[in-house]
Amino acid sequence: MSRGFIQTVLGSIAPECLGPTLMHEHLIIDLNSPAQRAKVENYGALSRKDIDPKDNFKLNWGQKRDIANFRLCDEGVAIDELREMRAAGGMALVELTVGGLGPDPLALKRIAEASGVHVVMGCGHYVDAYQDPDNASRPVESFAREIVGQVATGAWGTDIKAGIIGEIGCEYPWKDVERRVLLGAILAQNETGAALTIHPGRHENQPMEIVGFLREHGADISRSIICHLDRTIFDIETLLRLADTGCILEFDLFGWENACYWPNLDIDLPNDADRLRLVKALLERGYGDQILLSHDICVKSRLLRYGGHGYQHMFANIVPLMQRREIADADIDRILTLNPRRLLTQPGR
Ligand SMILES: [Zn+2]
Repeated sequence: MSRGFIQTVLGSIAPECLGPTLMHEHLIIDLNSPAQRAKVENYGALSRKDIDPKDNFKLNWGQKRDIANFRLCDEGVAIDELREMRAAGGMALVELTVGGLGPDPLALKRIAEASGVHVVMGCGHYVDAYQDPDNASRPVESFAREIVGQVATGAWGTDIKAGIIGEIGCEYPWKDVERRVLLGAILAQNETGAALTIHPGRHENQPMEIVGFLREHGADISRSIICHLDRTIFDIETLLRLADTGCILEFDLFGWENACYWPNLDIDLPNDADRLRLVKALLERGYGDQILLSHDICVKSRLLRYGGHGYQHMFANIVPLMQRREIADADIDRILTLNPRRLLTQPGR
């Protein structure tokens, strides 16, 4: 039996080489939807502009909106931010910019080379509103073949292989094409053994709806990650019911410290202390193997360069806070290193 491996954008590595890992980030992304992009004249240049760090609070609160904030497109900035992360103790990052968000494997490769950080790339498609109109009529098998190819031979016209499937986008209510993409992703998970990571819609019942769907269609629940729980589920009882299914629970909005969640104003966003209280409650009940943490950085205002927290925040600030809140070092290691290693390890081929 051959050993497992982790696929990075620079090639495969031995699982024990991975190190502390952020499981849900973006380095190069266009978060403006295709409809928004089409509306703006001179979109390319306007969206590439810098933002002013003095606008940081306004942008993060949603008081100010700027298409330039919703686009990360500067490789030099990404490299600088990753060097800061490395200096703080982070070694690896999972980049989940998938179909609809402007995936750029060659840029990720250059960024990984220059920063010395292991970058693992995702694949598949984001929510319906971002998808290529041609996807609307594609059958499940077509998505499955595409995703298997992205993992096994290379993604988005390159020979750079994805190391995880997703983030697969789901909205609430759930769209038909999103279900077909997820079904294709489940088939690809079965075929490749790669982990599957899913962006649920903004409703507290949807994670359970998705897990039910995964079960019904034969996904490996223990290798299926439900993202963005910190804007989706707010009470421990609902969280425990989800944990009992065996799926992986991801709190990936660390560093988003204000209450205003501008994508849905009905949601009161927790801060990092609230997130850690839920993490600690899960640990105390024995769910430590199912927890992942990250920042899901996807706008400029969350980068150090523009007055934000950057990819370094987890290692520079959250790890010491976890220690201060009496989370054991072994659990911190489990959450930031061992769980990512286990999930990203694909079976030897
Ligand atoms: Zn994301």
